[in-house]
Amino acid sequence: MRTRLFRTALDTLHLFRLDRLGASLAQGAGVIFTLHCVRPAAPAGFHPNGLLEVTPEFLRTAIRATRASGCTIVTMDEAVARLQSGRSDERFAVFTLDDGYRDNLVHALPVFEEEDCPFLIYVPSDFPTGAGELWWLALERIIAGHRSVRFDLGAGEESFACANDAEKEQAFNTIYAHLRAIDEDAQRAAIHRMAEQHGFDLAALCAEEIMDVAELKTIAAHPLCTIGAHTVTHRAIAKLSPEAALVEMRTGADWLAETLGGRPKHFSFPYGDPGSAAARDFPLAREAGFVSAVTTRKGMLFPEHRDHLHALPRVSLNGHYQDQRYLDLFLSGVPFLIAAKGRKLQVA
Ligand SMILES: [Zn+2]
Repeated sequence: MRTRLFRTALDTLHLFRLDRLGASLAQGAGVIFTLHCVRPAAPAGFHPNGLLEVTPEFLRTAIRATRASGCTIVTMDEAVARLQSGRSDERFAVFTLDDGYRDNLVHALPVFEEEDCPFLIYVPSDFPTGAGELWWLALERIIAGHRSVRFDLGAGEESFACANDAEKEQAFNTIYAHLRAIDEDAQRAAIHRMAEQHGFDLAALCAEEIMDVAELKTIAAHPLCTIGAHTVTHRAIAKLSPEAALVEMRTGADWLAETLGGRPKHFSFPYGDPGSAAARDFPLAREAGFVSAVTTRKGMLFPEHRDHLHALPRVSLNGHYQDQRYLDLFLSGVPFLIAAKGRKLQVA
């Protein structure tokens, strides 16, 4: 529903070409794009995590549209240097991918190579070793494979019908919202219990979807690639004690440093929304030793972000918006400045 409303708003903006009118005000100094999976399009039907996927063709279109709009695509090091120096003669963009999906190596890397486009992958250290709990994908797969599922929303176990796509969507949305709302340890315990009850193998899912250590080393050694940190277990930082948050940040970076031979300078908050990365957490990312930290708060980079390098906004290249019209709008910055009621900084 929210997706549909947002899309209608975007279509209206595009119809009146408000992106062109507003761009000089809204586009700022640059933009950081968020991606997750890059892979061929999935068949139509129940696929709630489809928003995390774009096709290799769309990635290529996005890179070219970014350059055509006058942005230079740079590394995160360079983006930080430009924000710090205050130079504003040339707009810039950074392409980032979260979580370390195997398709980044198989499908995204060839496009980045062909386009000579630098990119950054944020990796939770549990993921390449096979210990990652990709609960959002597990929930989708379990529901996709059953006509009904059992789950405890807090008032005892109940049965959710999921015989068709509409029922599957409804069951997914209900259980997903619950898992995002509860405590992080309770969330993981709940998905483990659900996986066990429905004969689903969480470790096999991680091994299937995520680059293993050898693959991570391969992509990390590529001259276009930077590796960033993304905690150990992909827990929402804002829901942890400050001590536990620092352990997640530092231990994830330690593992990457040991495994890849270079300490990551950049960090991405898991989930990255205000409920997962709050005002308390930005100084923690600095304390953990990172030069920058990104959220998923939507917005462009402005010169003012120079003083907020650990609360950087991003723009998601979302599977639901794989269209040149939306790229034009995203590159203008107009929808985000409107959504933020004209505020360039969202750091509270
Ligand atoms: Zn993530």
